[in-house]
Amino acid sequence: MCLLAFFPMSLSQRAYCGRFAPSPTGPLHFGSLVCALASFLDARAHNGTWLIRIEDIDPPRDVPGADQAILKTLARLGMTSDIPVVRQSQRYALYEEALRRLSQQGLVYGCACSRKEIAAVQTELGLPSHVYPRHLPQRNARQTGSVASHPNLQRSCRFHRSSLRLFSENLERDVGDFVIKRADGLWAYQLAVVVDDAEQGITDVVRGEDLLDNTPRQIFLQRKLGYPTPQYLHIALALDGHGQKLSKQTHAPAIDNEDPLELLNAAAIHLGLGSLNAKTPQAFYAAAQEYWAEKYLY
Ligand code: GLU
Repeated sequence: MCLLAFFPMSLSQRAYCGRFAPSPTGPLHFGSLVCALASFLDARAHNGTWLIRIEDIDPPRDVPGADQAILKTLARLGMTSDIPVVRQSQRYALYEEALRRLSQQGLVYGCACSRKEIAAVQTELGLPSHVYPRHLPQRNARQTGSVASHPNLQRSCRFHRSSLRLFSENLERDVGDFVIKRADGLWAYQLAVVVDDAEQGITDVVRGEDLLDNTPRQIFLQRKLGYPTPQYLHIALALDGHGQKLSKQTHAPAIDNEDPLELLNAAAIHLGLGSLNAKTPQAFYAAAQEYWAEKYLY
């Protein structure tokens, strides 16, 4: 198998642009604050641009008003987008165009199978439940979703940034084909995030480790669409007392009313920046940025 290491050469010539891209499925909690702060500090430490993008492409899961609540909490903590906030729900035409380009390359097929049917084929082929069977046979003529396939992809994607941890995944073996547009017409995260990162000129993605194994799929799509690949840094997740990821699914408490400095100081400790004990937000950001640069930039 040929391993392909990807260290984009052109990135140094592009002006740093980072982003925080929350899905509005609930209010900001400590876990998402840590991710927001990490990407914000990275952008500031690079003298770059930082933007917020609301990833609201899943109406059944999105909670009305959560986008505003997230933006309000971030602003209270001193983090505001350098450019107007973008919403994925207003960018479907871009995703449609990307789908068209992938289809033109023969990389997309429709799949009409239900979850149950997919599970049956997985059992039949002895595949783990997270691997989508390649070229799943179409069983009927129902309205189909779209799946990106990667013919002859015998490569792994490897990438890292500063953490010295190299992540490698063989898409064909570990992931299989993957959905880029759902049968109900909704756009899948993988396609939307790739299109928006490219279209918004994102050079550096700093996000939680839970998304680490999505990155090879995203790099695959970037290559097929002719987009540059950003640098990726995945940070350790904040866990609850039971070792579970703090998330909306595990009912992590919202952080609406807590003291901003206490929250920021706690998030800095989680990021390994030490106990800053800053007395004002200005002092916090000045110190945190410096410690971030020491830990992650050099
Ligand atoms: N919208 C995703 C989430 O809230 C994050 C996407 C990303 O950072 O790539 O989990």
